[in-house]
Amino acid sequence: MIDDDFTIASVLGQDKAKKMLRGAVRSHRLSHAYLFRGPAGVGKKTLARAFGNYLNCQAPVADQDACGSCRSCRKLKSGNHPDLLLVEPDGAAIKIKQIRELKHALTFPPFEAKYRIVLIADVHTMRREAANSLLKILEEPPPGNQLILSGDEAGDILPTILSRCQIIPFTGLARELVADRLAATGIAPDEAASLAAIADGSLGRAKTLADSELLETRRAIIAGLLEMKQAKRPAAATVFALAEQAAGLADRLPDLLDLVKLWFRDLIMLANHLPEEIVNRDLPGLADRNGVGWTAAELLDRLDLFDKARRQLARNCNRTLVCEDLFFGLL
Ligand SMILES: [Zn+2]
Repeated sequence: MIDDDFTIASVLGQDKAKKMLRGAVRSHRLSHAYLFRGPAGVGKKTLARAFGNYLNCQAPVADQDACGSCRSCRKLKSGNHPDLLLVEPDGAAIKIKQIRELKHALTFPPFEAKYRIVLIADVHTMRREAANSLLKILEEPPPGNQLILSGDEAGDILPTILSRCQIIPFTGLARELVADRLAATGIAPDEAASLAAIADGSLGRAKTLADSELLETRRAIIAGLLEMKQAKRPAAATVFALAEQAAGLADRLPDLLDLVKLWFRDLIMLANHLPEEIVNRDLPGLADRNGVGWTAAELLDRLDLFDKARRQLARNCNRTLVCEDLFFGLL
């Protein structure tokens, strides 16, 4: 995997963040704590690891990146470096117990690295109690420690944390970059382009969606709906079978519904003569300019059914029943 390289250059996009970090190293003006902030799944944690590698690299390349092969780089890459501390949410949040353990660990100097890299990931999950416990360390970390926090911009990050870090902004990735990176992992180019569009600038989300069971189920549902629509009669047995298959995805069912909804959105684009807006280039039914049987108004109505289904799922309604209701409604 290209991502496992952990050099700054191997991280997708984020030119501004890279420039800020390299500039800080070059001018010997490292901030004691950085907060990498931006959308989910755009490379914050990956760049944090790469930056840590660079800071500790024994033979940096052209004054701007880790070499990827010296002893320090190899050890940090393996994830087993004693001077790489990673704090991640335990369940839904970073807990105060984890921060206390971290503070204890920081009372000792680094084992061997120039900088001990302390990555506190997803700080938007941290509640006030845990955040307060972290403030002193953030303000004045013991020497030899480089703190890097990451947080999603959609989540709330406490102002007390924000004010004590230098913020490095991350942005959504260009669709082409995400598609190319997916294709490099062996995904068919058409499918990679669809996934990149669906994931809306997040490589992390695109990778989650690239799950083959999810994509196969999406294809089966869409083919089934199309077949029934064109036969002009809903077949109850088919709907029940498709609902069962969809419900089998369990926690990933909301993702499936988003994917199928996007196909309906594409049909709307087609009905409105905007073929260039189509996202799902790998799916059936979108090559026919005459549409597949729904009018533009009918299609718009159907988008609401997806929102209704998502609400029902959020309330823990029975997954199979939600899908049956939705699929009958879509026909
Ligand atoms: Zn190196």
